[in-house]
Amino acid sequence: MVTPRSLAELIEDDDVMEAEEIEDTDRDCPECGGDVVSVGYMPSVTEYVTGYKCQECDWYETDRD
Ligand SMILES: [Zn+2]
Repeated sequence: MVTPRSLAELIEDDDVMEAEEIEDTDRDCPECGGDVVSVGYMPSVTEYVTGYKCQECDWYETDRD
């Protein structure tokens, strides 16, 4: 079972402080065309990141510049 926190930690490749609900997006994965979900999380008290993860393959990214 994927939880918001476990998904955020996979995307961040580190512990996160908080994670919001996993949400569906209209995006398609650039690698395989699969469905992409998003999760907002806080890797630290001063930072809020939205992470994106493909449900079909290992692709993920964040909205960091
Ligand atoms: Zn994919």
